[in-house]
Amino acid sequence: MLAISLVLLVACASGDPGVTASRSDRFTTAIEEPDFEESTDPTAPALDVDEGRQSSVETDGSSAPEDSIEETPVSTPVEMPLTQEEVDDLIAELTEGGFCDPDDVRDEGIVTAMHFVVQGELQSPCYVDQPNDGDDVADVVVDDDPRLIEAWDSLTAITPNELVSDVSLLAGYEPCSACNTLAFVTVLDEDSTFFLLAVDVVSGAADPDELRLTMMHELTHVFAQKPGEQLDVSVRSPNNCDTFFNGGGCFAEDSYVWAWIQEFWPSEIRDTLPADGSVGTDAEANERCDADAGYTGSYAAVHPEEDFAETFSAYVYDVEVDPALTAKLEFFDRYPEFVSIRESARALGLAGNTEANFEGCG
Ligand SMILES: [Zn+2]
Repeated sequence: MLAISLVLLVACASGDPGVTASRSDRFTTAIEEPDFEESTDPTAPALDVDEGRQSSVETDGSSAPEDSIEETPVSTPVEMPLTQEEVDDLIAELTEGGFCDPDDVRDEGIVTAMHFVVQGELQSPCYVDQPNDGDDVADVVVDDDPRLIEAWDSLTAITPNELVSDVSLLAGYEPCSACNTLAFVTVLDEDSTFFLLAVDVVSGAADPDELRLTMMHELTHVFAQKPGEQLDVSVRSPNNCDTFFNGGGCFAEDSYVWAWIQEFWPSEIRDTLPADGSVGTDAEANERCDADAGYTGSYAAVHPEEDFAETFSAYVYDVEVDPALTAKLEFFDRYPEFVSIRESARALGLAGNTEANFEGCG
């Protein structure tokens, strides 16, 4: 039953703290492969979020035997919005299924609040940290966390619903002292349809420009890996993928990321990446960055998906970058949905107006 609801969620609609941290690890994403072997209960969150810097494509592909995976075809989009009653039922079901669980985020810090997102709409919080319940947040948030709402609003203010609606859960956290992840995305279900977007609300509130860029970066990891449309998650091995395997699946022929890779990551560069779809070493990324000014920075050079995400956030907010990135920026002009985001950012005076910048390459 839950699986059906999750499909509905998807179908109906259509970094790190710090301000002082380096650009390269500000955008941190953790899309991981569900642990199918442990997850026999389809309603149980299949993943824990690991701590630290991770890549959107860092997975452990070899650990999931192909025959252990239950495939669920992604349904065609349902145009009808859910009624409030259906939304309430869905939220009750998800809550009961354990999807609103601060433990999925806790490695990064103390969770302040969590909200389900249904068809792009933020719902009332399903979890709020309470005073004296053990891990108290510094800023007590009894009813909600306004910093988290602000972070969400900064994203949705300019983003069309169809690109936001694949986010199913939003969480805020105050980072632990040793943590330096500004935001991350992960999936919590076997079918890779249930995306959790989590954000460090302390750093976000301290630097709204950075927050906006980071939220946009993370969002690309959601919409550019949409199962069935962008990414075929039934493919479990690079050997069965004719496009690009990212550890969680194989990109569709007409996906954003495959188009990006064909244009900007020629095979001789791709050959320097690990075949399992994971990111390579920082040293390799630095080498690519040193050799080519066409990356926003060494973090972009670590993997095509990070390159896509970093460049996209620069595109949306008109961040000044090296002219070597012109072709990459123009790539996004081909997609009306992307142009629309940038137009919204410009209309609100947010574009070209950011203190944030990129470290650059070359
Ligand atoms: Zn990323």
